Amino acid sequence: MRTISGLAFDNTYARLADAFHQRVQPTPVPSPYLVSFSPDAAQLLDLDPAIAQTQEFVEAFAGNRPLPGSDPVAMKYAGHQFGSYVPQLGDGRAILLGEVRNEAGEKWDLHLKGAGKTAFSRFGDGRAVLRSSIREYLACEAMHALGIPTTRALCVIGTDLEIYREGVETGALVLRMAPSHVRFGSFEVFAHREQFDRVEQLADYTIEQCYPHLKKREGKYVAFLREVTERTARLAAHWQSVGFAHGVLNTDNMSILGITLDYGPYGFMEDFDPGFICNHSDEGGRYAFDQQPKIAYWNLTALAQSLLSLMSVDDAKAALNVFPDVFNGHMHRLMTAKLGLTSVVDEDMTLWTSLLDLLAEAKVDYTIFFRQLGNFVVGERNEHLRGLFATAAKFDEWAKRYGERLQGENSNDAHRKTRMDRLNPKFILRNYLAQIAIHKADLKDYSEVDRLRSVLRLPFDEQPEMEHYARPAPEWGKKLVVSCSS
Ligand code: AMP
Ligand code: MG
Repeated sequence: MRTISGLAFDNTYARLADAFHQRVQPTPVPSPYLVSFSPDAAQLLDLDPAIAQTQEFVEAFAGNRPLPGSDPVAMKYAGHQFGSYVPQLGDGRAILLGEVRNEAGEKWDLHLKGAGKTAFSRFGDGRAVLRSSIREYLACEAMHALGIPTTRALCVIGTDLEIYREGVETGALVLRMAPSHVRFGSFEVFAHREQFDRVEQLADYTIEQCYPHLKKREGKYVAFLREVTERTARLAAHWQSVGFAHGVLNTDNMSILGITLDYGPYGFMEDFDPGFICNHSDEGGRYAFDQQPKIAYWNLTALAQSLLSLMSVDDAKAALNVFPDVFNGHMHRLMTAKLGLTSVVDEDMTLWTSLLDLLAEAKVDYTIFFRQLGNFVVGERNEHLRGLFATAAKFDEWAKRYGERLQGENSNDAHRKTRMDRLNPKFILRNYLAQIAIHKADLKDYSEVDRLRSVLRLPFDEQPEMEHYARPAPEWGKKLVVSCSS
């Protein structure tokens, strides 16, 4: 177990040429305090969880005290935001404190969001507010527990610094972790300036750090693009299967590792609605739930475009072309498993789409429905499911087909339930649950943030004493809106 001063830094990104980053220290904040801490994330750094209670920890992750051996930088990138190219973004309020290597040899970026102004802050204040920091922290840890590739989060630190957004708000910082924070936009920024040597250096760096198995491969850049495409396609399928909407799928928020990155106005699907728009600022619905696979592909084409100095157009197209098969294949597997089926037949696709149509028409809670589907008994009326629909006639029709399909593979009710409960979560990060935790935190009671984190770390367990966390949103909770303001 390590202490803060025992963290072993290896600042590979900071060793890249100055063109890739700005060397910058976090700007200290007044009176920092611990809001919440994830022992699971600490374990990835071999950090002793007891140190979260120390002032040394708080000062370190408030950005008030440099970490020995770290070499903090703000990363440069650009990106397509809502379809338009923005030539310079970069870490405007986050600072890559450094990369820590754990005892298992894994490398984790320590990325502190809300750490103050950098050369990339443009008109921003370099800060983050408590509500968005809590939302990002909870989402990172909840998505990981759901088995979805994501950044992790070590802690949220609050401060007395006042932040101006819609009104005066409490300032905070979130310490985010990932094997790398390189984004699609990290490549775009150099390609659009025609700095092709930089594109190559970054590609070599990323392959070395994140895709080392490709290093010696002939056509390594095409193989790299192909693998990013595969990972991104699988990620998009994962999002769709669990009902997660990212909300701001700009290319600067797309990880080169194919993990979920940058949680802003995200949302978990509650009453099923394929056109669900979780981001109040997304008036056109560009990033609506059902658009995500298409947008992920669009973003990959932007990445491919910025790699064209390293490969032919035909090779880039071939790499991108794996997307539909990988996405559909993965979606098919997840969908089959969500239904508790063990074999795959073509008709399952219509079984799936007709179910989604039913859920949308009757506005049934997506998570509750699939969890309850685990209790389906072949040959019975399944009142627990019928009760979720205002009129059950259409559901009965579907249930008959589903029952026949299950019978066709001699499905055992109990075994199927065990399988399904491992895949269809009982607990998700519903907006209203996050809102309650944030509301209490605004009143300086951080217990609910912790409780929610600990419920969501075991989303597939029954946790009978936590039953109320599985309930659908009350009326006020259905009307909540989240926007880009953070
Ligand atoms: P995001 O919407 O959080 O992905 O941010 C998009 C871009 O705006 C990134 O380059 C951020 O660093 C920058 N940004 C967002 N909020 C701020 C802020 N308060 N101060 C400085 N830069 C910011
Ligand atoms: Mg971003």
